[in-house]
Amino acid sequence: MPHFICCTCGTQYGDSAAPPRDCLICSDERQYIGWSGQTWITLDRLRAEHHNRIVPEGSGLTGIGTEPKFAIGQRALHVRTPGGGILWDCISLIDDTTTERIRSMGGVTAIAISHPHYYSSMIEWSRALGDVPVYLHEADSPWVVRHDRAIVFWAGETREILPGVTLIRCGGHFPGATVLHWDAGAHGLGALLSGDVIMVGQDRRTAGFMHSYPNYIPLGAAAVRAIGEAVEAFEFEQVYGAWFGQNILEAGKQAVRYSVRRYLLAISDRERS
Ligand SMILES: [Zn+2]
Ligand SMILES: [Zn+2]
Repeated sequence: MPHFICCTCGTQYGDSAAPPRDCLICSDERQYIGWSGQTWITLDRLRAEHHNRIVPEGSGLTGIGTEPKFAIGQRALHVRTPGGGILWDCISLIDDTTTERIRSMGGVTAIAISHPHYYSSMIEWSRALGDVPVYLHEADSPWVVRHDRAIVFWAGETREILPGVTLIRCGGHFPGATVLHWDAGAHGLGALLSGDVIMVGQDRRTAGFMHSYPNYIPLGAAAVRAIGEAVEAFEFEQVYGAWFGQNILEAGKQAVRYSVRRYLLAISDRERS
């Protein structure tokens, strides 16, 4: 039986003879039903109509995104470390060419995903890369729509999944929203892979924080303060967001601190000068 994929958010569901009636992710207030109604695609058809673009994004970092754009349009990141490769975040399309390229980059020891919008075809990726574990924060488990033994729900505030590679629960966008800190990233100065939990702005110098980006629903002060506090103990020069090129390449930690302060000021009653 096929595993249908929602065309608007890219989430792949458990096997079913007919497509599900609704998409759980898109029916949520953080997302939306596509303007032509709920539509579905299979991985085979996606493979026939799309391909992946695989390009270097930084030192030891490779971006993997789908062309033409599919669903939310995020890109995954392959992180190369001496202890093994990590796939950070995920996309719907996985094909033989992509698997081969990832193998040639040293393969993947584990997959970790920031939040349900990027769960996409995570189980297909796990299988293709050698049944590797998929780390998801347990607070977001209600959003998993294809269950599999590869999924490792982690609890608490941080989890080191490889030496120098730590998942940090920030919350905010989703209760279990997670970023990844990579000690050796940015030539040893540290890198934060932030998905859209810490959303790198178009200026590539600052970041924003939202409950919903497409529906413009902001987060409250406490949630944004908590995001800032969650990453405060970590050093990082660079922040890699969820789209190709949407990265802060210098003074990343100062940029996140500044962005938290700016956000809190913006939602306070004080006038901006
Ligand atoms: Zn959907
Ligand atoms: Zn999201």
